[in-house]
Amino acid sequence: MARRCAVVGAGVIGACLALRLAEAGLEVILLDQDQPGQATSRWSFAWLNSNDKAPRAYHELNHAGLRAWATLAGQLDGAAWYRPAGNIEWAATAAGHATLAARVDRLASWGYPARMIDAAEAAGLEPALRLPPAGPGAGWFPAEGYLLTGPLISQLIEAAVTRGVTVLTGAAGQVTGFVLDGGAVQAVRTAAGQQIPADVVLCCAGRWTPELARLAGAAVPVPLVPWQTVGAAAPGLVVWAGPASPDGPARVVHAPGIHLRPHTGGQVHLEALDAAVDLHTPGAELRRWAAELLGRARRVTRGLDQAAVTAYQVCVRPMPADGQSIVGWLPGPRGVYLAVTHSGVTLAAQLAGLITTELVTGTAPDELRPYRPSRFLT
Ligand SMILES: Cc1cc2nc3c(=O)[nH]c(=O)nc-3n(C[C@H](O)[C@H](O)[C@H](O)COP(=O)(O)OP(=O)(O)OC[C@H]3O[C@@H](n4cnc5c(N)ncnc54)[C@H](O)[C@@H]3O)c2cc1C
Repeated sequence: MARRCAVVGAGVIGACLALRLAEAGLEVILLDQDQPGQATSRWSFAWLNSNDKAPRAYHELNHAGLRAWATLAGQLDGAAWYRPAGNIEWAATAAGHATLAARVDRLASWGYPARMIDAAEAAGLEPALRLPPAGPGAGWFPAEGYLLTGPLISQLIEAAVTRGVTVLTGAAGQVTGFVLDGGAVQAVRTAAGQQIPADVVLCCAGRWTPELARLAGAAVPVPLVPWQTVGAAAPGLVVWAGPASPDGPARVVHAPGIHLRPHTGGQVHLEALDAAVDLHTPGAELRRWAAELLGRARRVTRGLDQAAVTAYQVCVRPMPADGQSIVGWLPGPRGVYLAVTHSGVTLAAQLAGLITTELVTGTAPDELRPYRPSRFLT
Protein backbone atom coordinates (compact mmCIF):
# COMPACT_ATOMS: atom_id res chain seq x y z
CA MET A 1 0.00 0.00 0.00
CA ALA A 2 1.24 3.49 -0.91
CA ARG A 3 2.24 5.34 2.24
CA ARG A 4 3.20 8.88 1.29
CA CYS A 5 0.93 10.53 -1.29
CA ALA A 6 1.56 13.87 -2.98
CA VAL A 7 -1.66 15.20 -4.49
CA VAL A 8 -0.88 17.89 -7.08
CA GLY A 9 -3.77 20.33 -7.60
CA ALA A 10 -6.26 21.56 -5.00
CA GLY A 11 -9.29 21.96 -7.23
CA VAL A 12 -12.44 20.02 -6.48
CA ILE A 13 -10.83 16.72 -7.49
CA GLY A 14 -7.56 17.08 -5.59
CA ALA A 15 -9.27 18.48 -2.48
CA CYS A 16 -11.77 15.58 -2.37
CA LEU A 17 -9.04 13.06 -2.98
CA ALA A 18 -6.68 14.44 -0.33
CA LEU A 19 -9.45 14.14 2.25
CA ARG A 20 -10.38 10.58 1.26
CA LEU A 21 -6.75 9.40 1.24
CA ALA A 22 -6.18 10.91 4.68
CA GLU A 23 -9.35 9.27 6.01
CA ALA A 24 -7.95 5.96 4.73
CA GLY A 25 -4.85 6.49 6.89
CA LEU A 26 -2.39 7.59 4.22
CA GLU A 27 0.15 10.36 4.68
CA VAL A 28 -0.89 13.16 2.31
CA ILE A 29 0.65 16.39 1.07
CA LEU A 30 -1.61 18.57 -1.08
CA LEU A 31 0.25 20.95 -3.40
CA ASP A 32 -1.10 23.83 -5.44
CA GLN A 33 0.70 26.53 -7.36
CA ASP A 34 -2.12 28.93 -6.38
CA GLN A 35 -4.52 29.06 -3.43
CA PRO A 36 -6.89 26.05 -3.35
CA GLY A 37 -9.92 26.15 -5.64
CA GLN A 38 -8.99 29.21 -7.71
CA ALA A 39 -8.86 27.56 -11.15
CA THR A 40 -11.62 25.84 -13.16
CA SER A 41 -13.49 24.60 -10.09
CA ARG A 42 -14.09 28.19 -8.90
CA TRP A 43 -15.93 29.20 -12.07
CA SER A 44 -17.66 25.94 -12.90
CA PHE A 45 -21.41 25.84 -13.51
CA ALA A 46 -21.09 22.96 -11.02
CA TRP A 47 -24.32 21.34 -12.15
CA LEU A 48 -24.60 17.89 -10.59
CA ASN A 49 -25.97 15.68 -13.30
CA SER A 50 -25.79 12.61 -15.46
CA ASN A 51 -28.22 14.15 -17.90
CA ASP A 52 -26.68 13.45 -21.28
CA LYS A 53 -23.67 11.26 -20.61
CA ALA A 54 -22.75 8.34 -22.83
CA PRO A 55 -21.98 5.47 -22.95
CA ARG A 56 -24.06 3.82 -20.22
CA ALA A 57 -21.04 3.10 -17.98
CA TYR A 58 -20.11 6.80 -17.99
CA HIS A 59 -23.73 7.69 -17.24
CA GLU A 60 -23.66 5.32 -14.25
CA LEU A 61 -20.36 6.79 -13.01
CA ASN A 62 -21.87 10.28 -13.07
CA HIS A 63 -25.10 9.08 -11.47
CA ALA A 64 -23.01 7.53 -8.70
CA GLY A 65 -21.36 10.95 -8.43
CA LEU A 66 -24.68 12.49 -7.40
CA ARG A 67 -25.11 9.89 -4.66
CA ALA A 68 -21.53 10.38 -3.46
CA TRP A 69 -22.16 14.12 -2.93
CA ALA A 70 -25.37 13.39 -1.03
CA THR A 71 -23.38 11.16 1.31
CA LEU A 72 -20.57 13.68 1.75
CA ALA A 73 -23.08 16.48 2.38
CA GLY A 74 -24.29 14.53 5.41
CA GLN A 75 -20.73 14.33 6.76
CA LEU A 76 -19.39 17.80 5.90
CA ASP A 77 -21.95 20.57 6.53
CA GLY A 78 -23.67 20.28 3.16
CA ALA A 79 -25.89 23.26 4.09
CA ALA A 80 -22.99 25.51 3.10
CA TRP A 81 -22.43 24.08 -0.39
CA TYR A 82 -24.82 21.28 -1.43
CA ARG A 83 -27.92 22.33 -3.42
CA PRO A 84 -29.89 19.28 -4.69
CA ALA A 85 -32.65 21.58 -5.97
CA GLY A 86 -33.33 19.90 -9.33
CA ASN A 87 -33.05 21.08 -12.93
CA ILE A 88 -35.70 22.28 -15.38
CA GLU A 89 -35.03 22.30 -19.12
CA TRP A 90 -37.15 23.35 -22.03
CA ALA A 91 -36.65 23.74 -25.75
CA ALA A 92 -37.45 26.49 -28.24
CA THR A 93 -38.65 24.32 -31.10
CA ALA A 94 -40.84 21.26 -31.64
CA ALA A 95 -37.79 19.30 -32.82
CA GLY A 96 -35.85 20.37 -29.70
CA HIS A 97 -38.77 19.36 -27.50
CA ALA A 98 -38.93 15.92 -29.16
CA THR A 99 -35.19 15.43 -28.56
CA LEU A 100 -35.61 16.45 -24.91
CA ALA A 101 -38.57 14.09 -24.46
CA ALA A 102 -36.60 11.20 -26.01
CA ARG A 103 -33.70 11.87 -23.61
CA VAL A 104 -36.08 11.97 -20.65
CA ASP A 105 -37.53 8.59 -21.75
CA ARG A 106 -34.08 7.03 -22.07
CA LEU A 107 -32.91 8.37 -18.69
CA ALA A 108 -36.11 7.22 -16.96
CA SER A 109 -35.69 3.75 -18.47
CA TRP A 110 -32.19 3.70 -16.94
CA GLY A 111 -33.63 4.42 -13.50
CA TYR A 112 -32.52 8.09 -13.49
CA PRO A 113 -35.13 10.47 -12.05
CA ALA A 114 -36.50 12.34 -15.08
CA ARG A 115 -39.95 13.17 -16.41
CA MET A 116 -41.76 15.60 -18.68
CA ILE A 117 -43.97 18.16 -16.95
CA ASP A 118 -46.45 20.67 -18.30
CA ALA A 119 -45.99 24.44 -18.06
CA ALA A 120 -48.27 24.72 -15.01
CA GLU A 121 -46.27 22.17 -13.02
CA ALA A 122 -43.01 23.83 -14.08
CA ALA A 123 -44.34 27.20 -12.90
CA GLY A 124 -45.30 25.61 -9.57
CA LEU A 125 -41.83 24.12 -9.12
CA GLU A 126 -39.96 27.26 -10.15
CA PRO A 127 -42.18 30.35 -9.89
CA ALA A 128 -39.38 32.55 -11.28
CA LEU A 129 -39.69 31.02 -14.74
CA ARG A 130 -41.16 32.89 -17.68
CA LEU A 131 -42.00 29.62 -19.43
CA PRO A 132 -44.33 29.97 -22.45
CA PRO A 133 -47.74 29.07 -20.86
CA ALA A 134 -49.07 27.52 -24.07
CA GLY A 135 -45.84 25.62 -24.75
CA PRO A 136 -45.40 21.86 -24.58
CA GLY A 137 -43.78 21.91 -21.13
CA ALA A 138 -40.36 21.00 -19.85
CA GLY A 139 -38.10 18.21 -18.66
CA TRP A 140 -37.75 17.90 -14.88
CA PHE A 141 -34.73 16.22 -13.28
CA PRO A 142 -35.37 16.24 -9.52
CA ALA A 143 -32.19 14.43 -8.42
CA GLU A 144 -29.91 17.02 -10.01
CA GLY A 145 -28.68 20.25 -8.48
CA TYR A 146 -25.51 22.25 -8.08
CA LEU A 147 -22.61 22.83 -5.71
CA LEU A 148 -21.15 26.08 -4.39
CA THR A 149 -17.55 25.15 -5.02
CA GLY A 150 -15.99 28.00 -3.02
CA PRO A 151 -17.41 26.97 0.37
CA LEU A 152 -17.13 23.29 -0.61
CA ILE A 153 -13.39 23.40 -1.31
CA SER A 154 -12.76 25.45 1.86
CA GLN A 155 -14.52 22.78 3.88
CA LEU A 156 -12.72 19.92 2.14
CA ILE A 157 -9.35 21.54 2.83
CA GLU A 158 -10.25 22.26 6.45
CA ALA A 159 -11.39 18.67 6.99
CA ALA A 160 -8.27 17.35 5.25
CA VAL A 161 -5.97 19.47 7.44
CA THR A 162 -7.81 18.23 10.53
CA ARG A 163 -6.97 14.69 9.39
CA GLY A 164 -3.29 15.54 9.08
CA VAL A 165 -2.96 16.66 5.45
CA THR A 166 -0.22 19.24 4.82
CA VAL A 167 -1.19 21.91 2.28
CA LEU A 168 1.53 23.81 0.39
CA THR A 169 0.62 26.67 -1.94
CA GLY A 170 2.32 29.18 -4.24
CA ALA A 171 5.96 28.48 -5.10
CA ALA A 172 6.11 25.95 -2.24
CA GLY A 173 3.25 24.04 -3.87
CA GLN A 174 4.13 24.41 -7.54
CA VAL A 175 5.46 21.14 -8.88
CA THR A 176 8.21 21.70 -11.42
CA GLY A 177 9.76 18.24 -11.66
CA PHE A 178 9.78 14.61 -10.58
CA VAL A 179 12.60 12.68 -8.94
CA LEU A 180 12.72 9.09 -10.20
CA ASP A 181 14.92 6.20 -9.16
CA GLY A 182 14.93 3.04 -11.25
CA GLY A 183 11.82 4.31 -13.07
CA ALA A 184 9.84 4.80 -9.85
CA VAL A 185 8.84 8.15 -8.41
CA GLN A 186 10.66 9.15 -5.22
CA ALA A 187 9.72 12.82 -4.84
CA VAL A 188 8.44 15.93 -6.58
CA ARG A 189 10.42 19.13 -6.95
CA THR A 190 8.78 22.47 -6.29
CA ALA A 191 9.38 25.99 -7.58
CA ALA A 192 10.63 26.86 -4.08
CA GLY A 193 13.50 24.40 -4.57
CA GLN A 194 12.21 21.73 -2.18
CA GLN A 195 11.97 18.00 -2.80
CA ILE A 196 8.78 16.50 -1.37
CA PRO A 197 9.20 12.74 -0.88
CA ALA A 198 6.33 10.64 -2.20
CA ASP A 199 5.64 6.98 -3.01
CA VAL A 200 2.72 8.03 -5.20
CA VAL A 201 2.07 11.34 -6.96
CA LEU A 202 -1.58 11.94 -7.84
CA CYS A 203 -1.88 14.52 -10.61
CA CYS A 204 -5.18 16.39 -10.20
CA ALA A 205 -3.99 19.43 -12.10
CA GLY A 206 -7.00 19.95 -14.38
CA ARG A 207 -5.99 21.48 -17.70
CA TRP A 208 -2.31 21.48 -16.67
CA THR A 209 -2.25 17.68 -16.31
CA PRO A 210 -0.61 17.01 -19.72
CA GLU A 211 2.30 19.27 -18.77
CA LEU A 212 2.69 17.54 -15.42
CA ALA A 213 2.59 14.12 -17.09
CA ARG A 214 5.26 15.26 -19.54
CA LEU A 215 7.45 16.42 -16.66
CA ALA A 216 7.04 12.99 -15.06
CA GLY A 217 8.31 11.28 -18.23
CA ALA A 218 4.98 9.91 -19.51
CA ALA A 219 5.29 7.21 -22.18
CA VAL A 220 2.33 8.76 -23.99
CA PRO A 221 0.95 12.32 -24.20
CA VAL A 222 -2.22 12.96 -22.21
CA PRO A 223 -4.67 14.23 -24.84
CA LEU A 224 -6.90 17.09 -23.78
CA VAL A 225 -8.98 19.28 -26.09
CA PRO A 226 -6.76 22.31 -26.89
CA TRP A 227 -7.39 25.32 -24.66
CA GLN A 228 -4.59 27.82 -25.29
CA THR A 229 -5.01 28.48 -29.01
CA VAL A 230 -7.27 31.01 -30.75
CA GLY A 231 -10.65 29.39 -31.37
CA ALA A 232 -9.98 26.50 -28.95
CA ALA A 233 -13.13 24.68 -27.84
CA ALA A 234 -12.27 24.10 -24.17
CA PRO A 235 -12.69 27.67 -22.84
CA GLY A 236 -16.16 28.89 -21.86
CA LEU A 237 -17.58 32.18 -20.63
CA VAL A 238 -19.00 32.39 -17.11
CA VAL A 239 -20.97 35.44 -15.96
CA TRP A 240 -22.07 36.26 -12.42
CA ALA A 241 -24.82 38.83 -11.93
CA GLY A 242 -26.72 40.21 -8.98
CA PRO A 243 -28.47 41.00 -6.86
CA ALA A 244 -31.30 38.63 -7.70
CA SER A 245 -34.47 39.36 -5.73
CA PRO A 246 -35.85 36.67 -3.39
CA ASP A 247 -38.33 35.59 -6.08
CA GLY A 248 -35.44 34.85 -8.47
CA PRO A 249 -34.52 31.35 -9.68
CA ALA A 250 -33.91 28.70 -7.01
CA ARG A 251 -32.58 25.79 -9.07
CA VAL A 252 -30.71 24.90 -12.26
CA VAL A 253 -32.51 26.19 -15.36
CA HIS A 254 -31.64 25.22 -18.94
CA ALA A 255 -33.63 27.55 -21.16
CA PRO A 256 -33.11 28.16 -24.89
CA GLY A 257 -29.96 30.25 -25.21
CA ILE A 258 -29.16 30.51 -21.49
CA HIS A 259 -28.22 28.20 -18.61
CA LEU A 260 -28.41 29.58 -15.08
CA ARG A 261 -28.56 28.80 -11.40
CA PRO A 262 -28.37 30.68 -8.11
CA HIS A 263 -24.90 31.56 -6.87
CA THR A 264 -23.39 32.86 -3.62
CA GLY A 265 -24.13 36.37 -2.34
CA GLY A 266 -27.53 36.68 -4.02
CA GLN A 267 -26.02 36.34 -7.48
CA VAL A 268 -26.89 34.11 -10.42
CA HIS A 269 -24.39 32.13 -12.48
CA LEU A 270 -24.96 32.37 -16.26
CA GLU A 271 -23.59 30.48 -19.26
CA ALA A 272 -24.55 30.15 -22.92
CA LEU A 273 -23.24 27.54 -25.32
CA ASP A 274 -23.06 29.98 -28.24
CA ALA A 275 -20.80 32.45 -26.39
CA ALA A 276 -17.80 31.69 -28.57
CA VAL A 277 -14.86 32.98 -26.53
CA ASP A 278 -11.32 31.86 -25.87
CA LEU A 279 -8.39 33.05 -23.78
CA HIS A 280 -7.57 35.66 -26.47
CA THR A 281 -11.03 37.28 -26.76
CA PRO A 282 -10.77 41.07 -26.19
CA GLY A 283 -12.31 42.48 -23.01
CA ALA A 284 -14.87 44.57 -24.90
CA GLU A 285 -16.21 41.44 -26.60
CA LEU A 286 -16.41 39.62 -23.24
CA ARG A 287 -18.33 42.54 -21.73
CA ARG A 288 -20.72 42.51 -24.69
CA TRP A 289 -21.33 38.79 -24.14
CA ALA A 290 -21.77 39.26 -20.40
CA ALA A 291 -24.49 41.89 -20.98
CA GLU A 292 -26.09 39.63 -23.60
CA LEU A 293 -26.27 36.69 -21.16
CA LEU A 294 -27.84 38.83 -18.45
CA GLY A 295 -30.42 40.08 -20.97
CA ARG A 296 -31.26 36.50 -21.94
CA ALA A 297 -31.56 35.49 -18.28
CA ARG A 298 -34.00 38.34 -17.63
CA ARG A 299 -36.16 37.15 -20.51
CA VAL A 300 -36.57 33.63 -19.06
CA THR A 301 -36.72 34.29 -15.29
CA ARG A 302 -38.08 36.91 -12.92
CA GLY A 303 -36.07 38.48 -10.14
CA LEU A 304 -33.18 39.92 -12.17
CA ASP A 305 -34.49 43.43 -12.91
CA GLN A 306 -32.06 45.03 -10.44
CA ALA A 307 -29.18 42.73 -11.32
CA ALA A 308 -25.96 43.89 -12.97
CA VAL A 309 -22.97 41.89 -14.12
CA THR A 310 -20.69 41.43 -11.09
CA ALA A 311 -17.97 39.28 -12.70
CA TYR A 312 -17.15 37.48 -15.91
CA GLN A 313 -14.39 35.05 -16.70
CA VAL A 314 -13.20 32.84 -19.51
CA CYS A 315 -12.45 29.53 -17.87
CA VAL A 316 -11.18 26.28 -19.26
CA ARG A 317 -12.84 22.87 -19.30
CA PRO A 318 -10.23 20.14 -18.75
CA MET A 319 -11.69 18.01 -21.52
CA PRO A 320 -10.09 14.67 -22.43
CA ALA A 321 -9.98 14.44 -26.23
CA ASP A 322 -12.21 11.34 -26.33
CA GLY A 323 -14.73 12.89 -23.91
CA GLN A 324 -14.13 10.29 -21.20
CA SER A 325 -12.39 10.73 -17.85
CA ILE A 326 -8.67 9.89 -17.57
CA VAL A 327 -8.14 8.12 -14.26
CA GLY A 328 -5.34 5.68 -13.44
CA TRP A 329 -1.60 5.00 -13.51
CA LEU A 330 0.36 6.99 -16.03
CA PRO A 331 2.21 4.75 -18.50
CA GLY A 332 5.94 5.30 -18.04
CA PRO A 333 7.19 6.21 -14.56
CA ARG A 334 5.94 4.04 -11.72
CA GLY A 335 3.92 5.72 -9.00
CA VAL A 336 2.32 8.56 -10.99
CA TYR A 337 -1.48 8.53 -11.08
CA LEU A 338 -3.75 10.83 -13.14
CA ALA A 339 -7.26 12.10 -12.43
CA VAL A 340 -8.44 14.59 -15.04
CA THR A 341 -11.93 14.91 -16.41
CA HIS A 342 -14.67 17.13 -17.62
CA SER A 343 -17.79 16.96 -15.37
CA GLY A 344 -15.24 16.98 -12.58
CA VAL A 345 -17.61 18.62 -10.14
CA THR A 346 -20.22 15.90 -10.62
CA LEU A 347 -17.55 13.19 -10.45
CA ALA A 348 -15.08 14.37 -7.79
CA ALA A 349 -16.54 12.73 -4.69
CA GLN A 350 -17.14 9.42 -6.45
CA LEU A 351 -13.73 9.37 -8.13
CA ALA A 352 -12.00 10.24 -4.85
CA GLY A 353 -13.59 7.19 -3.20
CA LEU A 354 -12.74 4.85 -6.09
CA ILE A 355 -9.14 6.07 -6.37
CA THR A 356 -8.63 5.69 -2.62
CA THR A 357 -9.96 2.13 -2.82
CA GLU A 358 -7.49 1.40 -5.63
CA LEU A 359 -4.55 2.81 -3.69
CA VAL A 360 -5.45 1.01 -0.49
CA THR A 361 -6.29 -2.39 -2.03
CA GLY A 362 -3.94 -2.32 -5.01
CA THR A 363 -6.82 -3.25 -7.30
CA ALA A 364 -8.68 -0.91 -9.64
CA PRO A 365 -12.43 -0.89 -9.03
CA ASP A 366 -14.32 -2.06 -12.14
CA GLU A 367 -15.91 1.39 -12.50
CA LEU A 368 -12.49 2.88 -13.31
CA ARG A 369 -11.42 0.35 -15.94
CA PRO A 370 -12.78 2.24 -18.99
CA TYR A 371 -10.82 5.37 -18.06
CA ARG A 372 -7.23 4.18 -17.74
CA PRO A 373 -4.56 6.41 -19.33
CA SER A 374 -3.06 3.26 -20.90
CA ARG A 375 -5.86 3.40 -23.52
CA PHE A 376 -3.84 6.10 -25.30
CA LEU A 377 -0.94 3.67 -25.85
CA THR A 378 -2.88 1.85 -28.58
C1 LIG B 1 -17.57 26.85 -18.04
C2 LIG B 1 -17.49 25.52 -17.35
C3 LIG B 1 -18.65 24.90 -16.93
C4 LIG B 1 -18.59 23.65 -16.32
N1 LIG B 1 -19.75 23.08 -15.90
C5 LIG B 1 -19.70 21.92 -15.23
C6 LIG B 1 -20.89 21.38 -14.69
O1 LIG B 1 -21.95 21.97 -14.81
N2 LIG B 1 -20.82 20.21 -13.99
C7 LIG B 1 -19.62 19.55 -13.83
O2 LIG B 1 -19.61 18.50 -13.20
N3 LIG B 1 -18.47 20.05 -14.34
C8 LIG B 1 -18.49 21.20 -15.03
N4 LIG B 1 -17.36 21.74 -15.54
C9 LIG B 1 -16.10 20.98 -15.41
C10 LIG B 1 -15.55 21.05 -14.01
O3 LIG B 1 -15.63 22.38 -13.55
C11 LIG B 1 -14.12 20.56 -14.01
O4 LIG B 1 -14.08 19.23 -14.54
C12 LIG B 1 -13.52 20.57 -12.61
O5 LIG B 1 -13.66 21.82 -11.99
C13 LIG B 1 -12.06 20.18 -12.69
O6 LIG B 1 -11.53 20.21 -11.38
P1 LIG B 1 -10.00 19.94 -11.17
O7 LIG B 1 -9.80 19.85 -9.72
O8 LIG B 1 -9.57 18.79 -12.03
O9 LIG B 1 -9.27 21.19 -11.85
P2 LIG B 1 -9.01 22.70 -11.34
O10 LIG B 1 -10.13 23.22 -10.56
O11 LIG B 1 -8.56 23.45 -12.53
O12 LIG B 1 -7.80 22.50 -10.33
C14 LIG B 1 -6.51 22.15 -10.79
C15 LIG B 1 -5.51 22.74 -9.81
O13 LIG B 1 -4.21 22.26 -10.17
C16 LIG B 1 -3.30 23.29 -9.85
N5 LIG B 1 -2.04 23.02 -10.60
C17 LIG B 1 -1.89 22.91 -11.93
N6 LIG B 1 -0.61 22.65 -12.24
C18 LIG B 1 0.07 22.58 -11.05
C19 LIG B 1 1.43 22.35 -10.71
N7 LIG B 1 2.39 22.12 -11.63
N8 LIG B 1 1.76 22.34 -9.40
C20 LIG B 1 0.82 22.59 -8.44
N9 LIG B 1 -0.48 22.85 -8.73
C21 LIG B 1 -0.85 22.82 -10.01
C22 LIG B 1 -4.02 24.56 -10.28
O14 LIG B 1 -3.49 25.71 -9.65
C23 LIG B 1 -5.45 24.25 -9.85
O15 LIG B 1 -5.76 24.78 -8.57
C24 LIG B 1 -17.35 23.00 -16.13
C25 LIG B 1 -16.18 23.64 -16.53
C26 LIG B 1 -16.25 24.90 -17.13
C27 LIG B 1 -14.99 25.58 -17.53
